[in-house]
Amino acid sequence: MRQVLVTLSHGLQSSESKLYHVKLRELNGFDEQFLESIKNELPAFLQTTELLKKTTLFESEMTKIQKDELFKTLTIGDRICLLLNLRKITFGNSLSCIMTCDSCKEKASFELDIDSLLNLGTKQIKTENYLIHTKNFSLKIRPLTVLDQESILSYSDKRNFKEKPTDQLIRSCIVSSKPNLSDSSLPQEIIDAVNPKLNEIDPMADIILDLKCPACDHSLQTPFEIENFVLREIYSQISSLEKEIHWLAFNYNWSEKNILNLPIQKRHRYIELINETLSGE
Ligand SMILES: [Zn+2]
Repeated sequence: MRQVLVTLSHGLQSSESKLYHVKLRELNGFDEQFLESIKNELPAFLQTTELLKKTTLFESEMTKIQKDELFKTLTIGDRICLLLNLRKITFGNSLSCIMTCDSCKEKASFELDIDSLLNLGTKQIKTENYLIHTKNFSLKIRPLTVLDQESILSYSDKRNFKEKPTDQLIRSCIVSSKPNLSDSSLPQEIIDAVNPKLNEIDPMADIILDLKCPACDHSLQTPFEIENFVLREIYSQISSLEKEIHWLAFNYNWSEKNILNLPIQKRHRYIELINETLSGE
């Protein structure tokens, strides 16, 4: 089973210490079944978080509550970084995606590699808060976390919370402000100052691809929603899981549990080998 040790930029905060190095293992059939079970229950960012909790190898035994607390402190960029590493050890380094050119409207496919996306990340940062000065305010901000995104979700269920979700997120990353912020809508100067700073301190949170259309040479700058991309990729394979279990059990007499425990790529390789043997190769 392949594993990878990932260094996080901002780390996971437990009650005692901060964890900057996280070991992940590649995905197996049990993880696919788990993801299928939460597919319609949770938004993409929480599905990713749950998947990461499951595939992280901790040095000491941890309860579910401890893990939940720890992962709430994960920044968005660190979460993307972990997911890209998980994708890399499970399915490989290269990603193929199809984009529509906004100039000639042609569809073009692009090959991306995970290593270069990971290079966009920041180095390890031990600062908790970052200072911003606008014309009228001095702010302390911190990167956004899973908990911030979750709070926005639970807010939006409640009555008329008028502020836009993006503004609510900006508000939640502000640790302090001089003078104090009022409860009415956020001043534009704050929105304009916080957004670029968030991109600077947690760049993996919002990856913009710089591509060139092969048909018309137009430069495409497009956001890349990695979570949706990777989740879709896993879902697209889940439909064949049952058949694959059947095929391996039928030919090798393996138990369902042992088959589900196999890393996905290894399982696919055994199926290939059976098919090759049966077709006389
Ligand atoms: Zn084009």
